[in-house]
Amino acid sequence: MSRRITRLIHHPYRAPAGFEAVPPAVHKASTVIFPNVAALRARDWRSKAGYTYGLHGTPTTFTLEERIATLEGGRHCVLAPSGLAALALVNLALLRAGDELLLPDNVYGPSKDLARSLLDGWGIAHRLYDPLDAGALAAAIGPRTRLLWIEAAGSVTMEFPDVRGLVRVARAQGLTVALDNTWGAGLAFDPFDLGEGLRVDVSMHALTKYPSGGADVLMGSVTTVDPALHERVLLAHMRLGLGVGANDAETILRALPTLELRYDAQDRAAREIAAWLQRQSAIRRVLHPALPGSPGHEHWAGLCTRAAGLFSVLFDEGVEPARVDAFVDALKLFRIGYSWAGPVSLAVPYDLSSMRRDRSALPGTLVRFSIGLEAVEDLKADLAQALAAIG
Ligand SMILES: *Cc1c(COP(=O)(O)O)cnc(C)c1O
Repeated sequence: MSRRITRLIHHPYRAPAGFEAVPPAVHKASTVIFPNVAALRARDWRSKAGYTYGLHGTPTTFTLEERIATLEGGRHCVLAPSGLAALALVNLALLRAGDELLLPDNVYGPSKDLARSLLDGWGIAHRLYDPLDAGALAAAIGPRTRLLWIEAAGSVTMEFPDVRGLVRVARAQGLTVALDNTWGAGLAFDPFDLGEGLRVDVSMHALTKYPSGGADVLMGSVTTVDPALHERVLLAHMRLGLGVGANDAETILRALPTLELRYDAQDRAAREIAAWLQRQSAIRRVLHPALPGSPGHEHWAGLCTRAAGLFSVLFDEGVEPARVDAFVDALKLFRIGYSWAGPVSLAVPYDLSSMRRDRSALPGTLVRFSIGLEAVEDLKADLAQALAAIG
């Protein structure tokens, strides 16, 4: 008879199989256990038919991947430990030294930083293109250009590009098209069915934002349709060791059923608050793709009816940046912070000089708002008192 501690660790009890409940089970493992050496040698980690190692997937992560693929209208999905990791994974999977990628000028800041630092050091060059000038894209494409990134809308300047126009140019030049679909969240438009026979190749999503909805987890996804493209992403994912935690996957699985309700509620609230801010004298311009006059509004209207609960304002140039900071500091319900799509409304001032080479359409100081789930009247009152506080 073995010792009690050994019996405890090798406990013979197996709970009966067949437990069914509404939430998917949470499986945790570094490794799985094989019944014998032949099974260990035979297992193919690339297929979802079985399990080989925690990094290569568990029932919990496979379940989340399948649901995100459904949300995005794709076939294959790979999870990464943050949106930024997912974005980096796409670049590392698809680019080699000597290749070039194209980024919109207003791209998510850390994406530009990745291109300028690590990718550049590895011999992968990048060019910036004006997201609002699809006609100029062709001129930015060189013989080594492989990958085009699109962000619709840009998450700070809220400019909405002509997604179909950009995809059409990229197709004609044989580029792979990757979309940062965090803003659209799989709800505002269908990245794999843009209409007119067009689609992106890769949809990357910061699940940190809407799919989580709780401001409590970081995760990203890379969704594809083409199996060969998926395999390239999957191989890079395995080689880089980009696993996600089971508890984090569970948090997102739990939040996914309310995704659409939250998206629409935050959309409604954001539009109401954006329209109200447009009438305030200190505000020069409200940047919200669903508002007529906002940059790229016509492109948004041609592709979407919904919008994320995210928008920016440009303060009048007469309001100096220190007063804009004082406005943000005076907010009480709106908290100061970067992320978005959580329950708490957030505000953050941005320096546009690193974000847009041509600032002529975006004068003044920019503040971005993420609208949470608070009552709209309370949020408006908070903005009103903060505007009054800076005179
Ligand atoms: C937040 C965000 C990311 C990165 O997501 P993290 O999970 O925070 O790394 C990428 N793109 C956009 C547009 C984002 O808003």
